[in-house]
Amino acid sequence: MKEKTLCHAGELFLIEQLQKNFQYNLKSLVAGIGDDAAVIKYGKDYLLFTTDMMLEGVHFDLHYITPYQLGFKLISVNVSDIYAMGGTPMYALLNIALRKKTETSFFNMLFKGIKHALSYYKTILIGGDISAVRKDIYLSATIIGSTTKPILRSGAKEGDKIYVTGYLGESACGLEILKKKGMRVKPSNNLLKRHLMPAARNPDKLKGIATSMIDISDGLLIDLTRLCDESKVGARIYEEKIPVSPQMRKTALSLGLSPLNLAMTGGEDYELLFTAPHNKKIKAIYIGDIVKSERVIIDKLGFKKAFEPKGYQHF
Ligand code: ADP
Ligand code: MG
Repeated sequence: MKEKTLCHAGELFLIEQLQKNFQYNLKSLVAGIGDDAAVIKYGKDYLLFTTDMMLEGVHFDLHYITPYQLGFKLISVNVSDIYAMGGTPMYALLNIALRKKTETSFFNMLFKGIKHALSYYKTILIGGDISAVRKDIYLSATIIGSTTKPILRSGAKEGDKIYVTGYLGESACGLEILKKKGMRVKPSNNLLKRHLMPAARNPDKLKGIATSMIDISDGLLIDLTRLCDESKVGARIYEEKIPVSPQMRKTALSLGLSPLNLAMTGGEDYELLFTAPHNKKIKAIYIGDIVKSERVIIDKLGFKKAFEPKGYQHF
């Protein structure tokens, strides 16, 4: 790598380097680095493996989120990657590092949230690791799931339609409300709920229909770019079809933010973004089409603008 710092290289580039350097020609390895979860053929079925971490100060701020909500969210975020493969979560492992001075009530509430989410997703905790940490709290979950037919990021074909399963930008707008308030508030509306205690979208109805799928964890544009990269296709999306809820529009405008920008680049919605053949009847929100190579947004007046993979990137 000629880039001096990770920040200069960028997250997408870093992952690309890992993908190139760790390529294996194994029959059982259906998908590895580059999809929401790794897919391993096992007998007639496929096993799915995914892991995601949450760091204090990076992914969460304890001034805004309760330990109970945090525990629930940790599981949802990981289950979302299993769902994004068209899978069913089965087992969870947890790695948790907490401060020595953290109160036991924090631990209890964190695990209460984790337990609630595990039972919501019909998943069980089978192990993990625990450690003390000097400063920032660290949480990570690994989920093992299965499916009879994985839906990969790489299956989109020219002519397919692009869909999402729900409103976008809700979570990012919820976070903006919390930042403005500067303290914990009851999740009394959908925006706060979707930020503090998101529920992953079950893909069961899309099985056998979706040609490719990814969950929107970092933002529509960046996750659509990931899907397009893996499928080696382009995408044309329509600004007026991007689903923005009336509540999000109103709140964003009152905070001086662009609702459309939140919907296209805001992270942590955990809605599913998928493609399906154009002639299939689908119960989801149609936002655009898969094309050969251009990656563009068509605005309300019909003007085309190339889109960049904007959204949350660590580096
Ligand atoms: P997601 O947001 O669905 O968790 P990302 O798009 O962030 O996934 O990650 C892209 C791919 O890179 C995933 O397949 C993930 O498993 C892989 N990946 C990320 N970090 C590492 C790592 N440290 N080692 C190996 N693979 C990694
Ligand atoms: Mg994902």
